[in-house]
Amino acid sequence: MKVRADRSGHSLGVIRRVFRIRPIRFVPLVALPLAACTAAEEPDDILILGGSVLDGSGGEAVFADIAVSGGRIRFVGDAAGAGIAARDTVDARGLVVAPGFIDMHSHAELDTDHGRDARAFLFQGITTVALGLDGGGSAHVADRLARWTEDGIGVNAFLSVGHNWVRRQVLGMADRAPTEAELDEMRALVRKGMEEGAYGLSSGLFYLPGNYAETEEVIELNRVAAEYPGAIYDTHDRDLGAAYPSFGYLKSIEEGIRIGEEAGTKVIFSHFNAQGAHNYGRAPEGAALIEAARARGVEVAGAHHSYTATQSNLRSYTIPSWFVAGGDTAMLRRFDDPDTVQVIDRQTLEMLTIRGGADRLLFADRRPQLNGRTLQEVANELGIEPSAAARRILREGNAAVMNLGLYDVENVRYLAQLDWMMTCTDGRDPGPTRPITHPRAFGSFSKKIRDLVLDEELITLPHAVRSMTGLAADFLEWPERGYLREGYFADIAVLRLDAVRDMATYENPHQYSAGTVHVLVNGVFAIRDGEATMALAGQALVRGGAAFVARTTVDR
Ligand SMILES: [Zn+2]
Repeated sequence: MKVRADRSGHSLGVIRRVFRIRPIRFVPLVALPLAACTAAEEPDDILILGGSVLDGSGGEAVFADIAVSGGRIRFVGDAAGAGIAARDTVDARGLVVAPGFIDMHSHAELDTDHGRDARAFLFQGITTVALGLDGGGSAHVADRLARWTEDGIGVNAFLSVGHNWVRRQVLGMADRAPTEAELDEMRALVRKGMEEGAYGLSSGLFYLPGNYAETEEVIELNRVAAEYPGAIYDTHDRDLGAAYPSFGYLKSIEEGIRIGEEAGTKVIFSHFNAQGAHNYGRAPEGAALIEAARARGVEVAGAHHSYTATQSNLRSYTIPSWFVAGGDTAMLRRFDDPDTVQVIDRQTLEMLTIRGGADRLLFADRRPQLNGRTLQEVANELGIEPSAAARRILREGNAAVMNLGLYDVENVRYLAQLDWMMTCTDGRDPGPTRPITHPRAFGSFSKKIRDLVLDEELITLPHAVRSMTGLAADFLEWPERGYLREGYFADIAVLRLDAVRDMATYENPHQYSAGTVHVLVNGVFAIRDGEATMALAGQALVRGGAAFVARTTVDR
């Protein structure tokens, strides 16, 4: 990379002289002599001038210009010195220029009119999201990638096949092991997803029906994924620390490592952390297991965000999994049996204790009578116990709920410093139907920079940016994304560092992050001068990071 060595070598005068003149933009084309159109080299599309460039490697920032054309980074260095011109020039002096951020665990709703443009993510500098996680991804990968390609999406997105989805197709909500024939059916679904471009298999062993699976089943399905180069096992652990009954926070991490190690997939721990007040300060113990695995050559990593609340669903937080065996109808039937209810009541109470109490469960549901209120408040209003209130709510359907204070800030601080810890939002922007939702969809990346880099100076900016870019691209084995390098796709975030701030709060979550000045997705402005352009320049990506090409097109 050609770069200017320091601030003093950065001649603003030269830049102004050379780049303020943009004749092609303003001279009517008809008036151009033919020679002007054919002369010399075609100018680049966009020139980002004089920014403080972090390339995603974790190295120090350097002052450099970046030229973009045809969706790719064409040049990084001293543009004036190299005689590079562009149709469109952006002044990035005083700004940080980084690779677009990669959200390694996302729930961006790219399939909805509301979520397709992905603004909540773009305003954090995110240009690429991983989806199909927590075991939820369908095996119909090509269909979804094709739909994204056709409809347009605001960020790049890639998919995993989900173990829960696969298991549900074959076994429904049955709480038992599959027969050999059923396991074959499940294998076939995983293979279909991998064939169609999934980057790996995700699990949500905490959730249903994944929780009904033995470790061996997940290993068997990972063996299928492992037939494909670079395949990743993305695990939402069986017990992040607050599962009931306790499987064990450390045992759960061991299980995740074992699955990948035996099957031959790389492992990433989704939203890695230790849940529950009883696990405050215990993140280093879990991290030590991962570091031991890494030391013996297993490719294991994690991703995290720095909020202390989780968001999931009421059933998972308050009803033990065996009461849901057979599905929601079976669960509701058990609710009608007074003897069973006594047992559920007791166990729900224990679950609530692990989670810090009913006043720590804050509804993010679309039902207005629930949204923004705690389970305790709802119970008080109904004049019944929280366990009974939970059941009454579940009779009308599962509810989205946050668990406040489940994570410990000290754990977050510890994890942020690890050199294998990527960054994720775990977030979904549900739109205005849910005034209260988890702020993580809007603020995770900005919050990490604001809190841990700028305010606390706990980690350096190059380290934070690497955790959001190159580290993820390396793990994904993407040769052309995640770094600011010549020839790479032009996914670029330009930040005004002192203004970077997560604006979303638990009380007022629908707030885009501040400090993101420009974002390019595949060389197209998605945010320009702090305004969303509503361009849908994202690509549907297949394993390896290439853009999805519909099979029908390939065959022809
Ligand atoms: Zn998730």
